[in-house]
Amino acid sequence: MAELKNTKKHREEIYTCNRTRCGFCIQRCPVYEVMLLETYSSRGRTLVARGIMEGAITITPEVVKLANSCLLCGYCEKNCALENTTIFRDFKEDMVEQGLTDKYLDDAVGSLNEFGNPFKQNAKKRAIPEIKSNPNSKTLLFGGCTYGLNDHQTLIHMAELLGDVNYLGEEEPCCNNLLFDAGYIQQFKEKKSEVVKILKKTKAKEIVTGCPTCFRMLKEEYADEIKAEPIHFITKLYEMVKKGELKFESKEPLKVTWHDPCHLGRFGGIIDEPREIIRSVKNVELVEMENSGLDSYCCGAGSGLLMSYPELAIEISKKRIREALATRATILLTFCPTCEFTLEKGGTTIARDEIDYDAEDFDFDDLDKVESKIKVFNLLEWLVSLKK
Ligand code: SF4
Ligand code: SF4
Repeated sequence: MAELKNTKKHREEIYTCNRTRCGFCIQRCPVYEVMLLETYSSRGRTLVARGIMEGAITITPEVVKLANSCLLCGYCEKNCALENTTIFRDFKEDMVEQGLTDKYLDDAVGSLNEFGNPFKQNAKKRAIPEIKSNPNSKTLLFGGCTYGLNDHQTLIHMAELLGDVNYLGEEEPCCNNLLFDAGYIQQFKEKKSEVVKILKKTKAKEIVTGCPTCFRMLKEEYADEIKAEPIHFITKLYEMVKKGELKFESKEPLKVTWHDPCHLGRFGGIIDEPREIIRSVKNVELVEMENSGLDSYCCGAGSGLLMSYPELAIEISKKRIREALATRATILLTFCPTCEFTLEKGGTTIARDEIDYDAEDFDFDDLDKVESKIKVFNLLEWLVSLKK
């Protein structure tokens, strides 16, 4: 019988779910909504976990897929009395401990060891000469791998608005969320001590990041040991707007919508601030999607799903884009490098799906030029383009 030593810690919770079977977790579970199999919902996962624990179910590749495909988006947890995401993270850890891992995630973990980031990119790419770093600053600007390696503009704008910052550049460590959420907990613990050591050497009293995932990891996994307060940049931006230090105006009337990243909204409690910032912009109307705030819908990339099951992740992001399109907004704003990338992909995939490939004037070269019907923007980059 397969050993589920980590999942077993939640035996009582699992049996409680199996007895009640209330099902409040099923509708709007993004993975269930694409797979349309109950085993991919929270209720189904707990039933499968119990089956394995009692020897009634053996671990097949399908079981590994349902364990590893949970986004840990927390939508089910919001509707349930159980700590669903903790149970499912432990379920993933059990898979990893038995060597039942995904080769793409294994690859990303190998990259973390070799390059210090999951994307096999040279750490030197994190160096940003435009950011004047002060090692004695009380504010540490934590770029995160995605912005630090691939979107310097956003970090430069953040640094300009924050003023005096310390930026570690190529010395900056990864927050290691991928290890944590994909169940590589042993490896996470090893990396955690390295991160704590680097951050403790700084003089920071606050760590400001634009990445909601780094924000959550710093807050929940590192803050106690580093004695500095993690802050998402939106909080800083909100303070500046509230004090009247920043004013924005759109030349034309615009309708925009806001996507709450799971780690920022549901887990981070930052829901009103981005909306207040958007509402402060003259000539702009904020419209809400069907699922927003605490009920927001994951972009599809949580827990490395875009690496392990990309087709599933893109189907989920297409659902989110369709919600955005239904508002009739022309701009979809968010502040998360992963959501920005995934939603953009979802938008272009929808546009490609709608191409008439049999049309006489169809040209394969045109596929590269296909754009999402709704433009996806990072909130700060959009605001910079409107600055008065
Ligand atoms: S809402 Fe919670 S208790 Fe109810 S079926 Fe879903 S996971 Fe089980
Ligand atoms: S955390 Fe998200 S993806 Fe996982 S079971 Fe719950 S709702 Fe579904």
